[in-house]
Parts: sequence; C-alpha cells; structure tokens
Amino acid sequence: MVEKLLWGEMTRIELEELSNDVDTVLLPVGSIEQHGPHLPLDTDSYDAMYILKEAVKKLDPPLPPILPTISYGLSEHHMGFKGSISLKPDTLMSLVVDIGRSVKKHGFNKMFIYNAHGGNTSVLKEAALRLKYDHDLHVFMDSGESMEPAKKELVKSKNDVHAGEYETSTSLANRGDLVDSDRISKPDLKFPHQTMEFDNKPPLFFTWYTHELTDTGAIGDPTKATVEKGEKLWDSGIDILAERIALVKEL
Ligand SMILES: [Zn+2]
Repeated sequence: MVEKLLWGEMTRIELEELSNDVDTVLLPVGSIEQHGPHLPLDTDSYDAMYILKEAVKKLDPPLPPILPTISYGLSEHHMGFKGSISLKPDTLMSLVVDIGRSVKKHGFNKMFIYNAHGGNTSVLKEAALRLKYDHDLHVFMDSGESMEPAKKELVKSKNDVHAGEYETSTSLANRGDLVDSDRISKPDLKFPHQTMEFDNKPPLFFTWYTHELTDTGAIGDPTKATVEKGEKLWDSGIDILAERIALVKEL
C-alpha cells in the first residue's frame, strides 16, 4: 500500500497505528483573497499544501500526517478587491485552537503550521501560545521563512510581498496553467511615506488596505516573474522546510 500523506485520506485504524510512531502533525493555513488580476484567489491555500506535501516526501517514514488546509484566513485588507473572503481574527483563533486540542487528544504533542499568508501570522502566534499554555500542545510555525534565503537571492523587485515577482514566479512553477499571463502588469505603488515601505529597514508599522497601496491588487513587480525563478524558489524552500519538519519530528 502507498504511504499516505493526508490525515483526511487515512482510516481510523491507519491513524491509530501512525500515532504510535509519530507525535507531530502538519497544518497548512492559507487564504482566499485577490491576487492581482493574474493569479488565482486560492494561491496561498494551494501553496501551503503544496510545499508541505513536497517537503514531507523528502523525509524518512514514519511521516507526520498533513491535516486538511485551513483555506480561509484574515484578508480584511484585501476586501477592496473582488473575490476576497475574510475570517474575523477570533474565528481563525478558535479554529486553530479547536484543531490543536483535537489532535492533542489523539496523542499528537506537536503541531507544525505552514502559514502561506502573512496576514494570519499574528493570530496564529497567539493561538500557538494558547495551545501551549492551555492544552500542552507544542506549536511550530513557518510563515514562509523557509523561502526567504532563495527569495533574497533571486527576487529584486521592491516591496515584493503580494502577487509580485516572487509569488507570480512560484505560481508559474507550480500552477502555470492558472496564471493569466496576458494580465500581468507592473502596479502603481503608493506608500504613505518611504519609512513605511515594506523594504525599509526597519519599516514603520502601519495599517493599510491593499487598494490604498496598489492600483492592480499586486504589490511588487509581477512582470519580472519567470518559471525558472519559481522552480529555484520552490527547490530551496522545500529543502529547508523538510529539514525543519525533520528537526521538529525528532524533538
Ligand atoms: Zn499570496
């Protein structure tokens, strides 16, 4: 029988057996939100599951199971563009805590979250604290940090955080058929001040709606995206994430 990766595809018996050998579960978290005129709305949710699957395939069995994706996230800032669907922070918090306390009951002591959407990060960290202190579940999270070394090397566009050079490249590489290349264009970006630009070191934190910063919904420069860059970004990110999951699994 093939080794199953997904929690949802396993039988109760298979999961019982697996829980004797592995005490780590993996949780992909994404979003459904506008990604400019050219990328699918579910880019973050698809990518969260994609990178976890590819990373787990590099590990030695027994493999930590991948829970179903939390497809919706905190996307209030994208609501000015069609297609975005946002949870309230409390909703996401409850969802993650409920999932965490459930897996803990079944004998898993560690939950590794791969979060593909920056807007979710602060609430997920808060949920991690609650799970540790209230439920004794140890949560680890990668919010795209595994992709950072290759991103630093390959992506040169300024403030490239959403549907820009980086994300359009990764989408061209893992789901090129869903990228509407004819609509790729460089957005007009407007920040309130240079100090608040995401690339400023360190940037001054401020709250924003995407439509206040960009005319197309993209932040960054998708015209610089290529399949080759996307493949290199994934290769590097998948390797680093696999190492991180292996490390957590052995703790
Ligand atoms: Zn995204």
